[in-house]
Amino acid sequence: MTANNFTLTLDDLRQWRDGGTAPCDPRPLIGVIGDPISHSLSPAMQQPALDEAGIEGRYVKIHIPKNVESLDECFALMSELGFQGTNITIPHKEAALAASTKADSVSTIMGVANTILFLADGTSKAYNTDGVGFAGAVRDAFLMDLRDLRIAIIGTGGGAGKAAAIKCGMDGCERLVMINRTVEKLRPLAEQLGPYFRDDRLHGPSDRIATIALADTAALQEALEEIDLIVNATSVGLKAGDGSPLPAHLIRPHHMVFDMIYAPPKTPLLIDAEEQGARIANGANMLAHQGAASFAIWFGKAPPVATMKSALAAAMQA
Ligand code: NAP
Repeated sequence: MTANNFTLTLDDLRQWRDGGTAPCDPRPLIGVIGDPISHSLSPAMQQPALDEAGIEGRYVKIHIPKNVESLDECFALMSELGFQGTNITIPHKEAALAASTKADSVSTIMGVANTILFLADGTSKAYNTDGVGFAGAVRDAFLMDLRDLRIAIIGTGGGAGKAAAIKCGMDGCERLVMINRTVEKLRPLAEQLGPYFRDDRLHGPSDRIATIALADTAALQEALEEIDLIVNATSVGLKAGDGSPLPAHLIRPHHMVFDMIYAPPKTPLLIDAEEQGARIANGANMLAHQGAASFAIWFGKAPPVATMKSALAAAMQA
């Protein structure tokens, strides 16, 4: 085990298998695999959930370098050592899907997985809970379900934006406007989601699904007039000194504005939105809900969501 309390490496897993002794007590039961991994807030949220549910085991970070050829050996070791499952973070989400024996429909459509369940027969199943996390956070913040909303997502070319867009399609939202700096990237996703938007639930001239370039302010202005929920799924706002991805004058008091970023808790976009009279929410509860959905997959029981949210809030403030 490395100096950082519960961070394991592939070598630690090999030694555990060869020596038969678990590296900590209670023994590791769930992991989060990534590179870098030291910043992950998942253990701070998942360990209290395990403890509250009376599940004996530790949630550990597993550092697998970004240049690893595949996750096959890592998954085989984890399965043999009795791990129930693992979360996956950057840059291994595609490799995790490839290394899994089976996959659910969402991770298959997305091409990436963030949750793996190890089954008793030695196989593994991949899932993606980002979309569920997004829907749960929107419900918490605005008391609305995606199916009742007209939604614009900025940054649909990225992984998180794509997950949210797919969830919007699967839940049958009224209208979906996908916005990206590089608009050409959106063509395959728009084609994939087309079938979810074929029926004619809305009256009026606008299509139920559209793509717009972020730089096309005139098209954005027109489209956003008919939108309820604006989502930022870009990384703009993460770094100190960042601006907002959207000109402030395009935000109206009737808008709900959801920023997937949670640190800082109020991005320039959310500051602008609040000044325009819109309702706002950041991405903290999205993280909690995607983690809660992972917990439900691993243990087949309802997760202690309130505990996970408060543990996460405390970790974010620490
Ligand atoms: P990603 O795959 O790297 O996607 C980045 C997206 O941001 C792309 O659409 C990209 O546009 C756009 N972008 C980057 N720089 C930009 C700029 N200067 N101007 C305009 N657009 C820009 O990242 P990701 O994993 O999807 O994450 C996106 C954001 O969501 C991050 O801030 C992340 O922290 C957050 N997130 C939050 C949660 C949560 O649980 N709350 C979960 C996942 C992600 P192009 O396609 O044109 O490059």
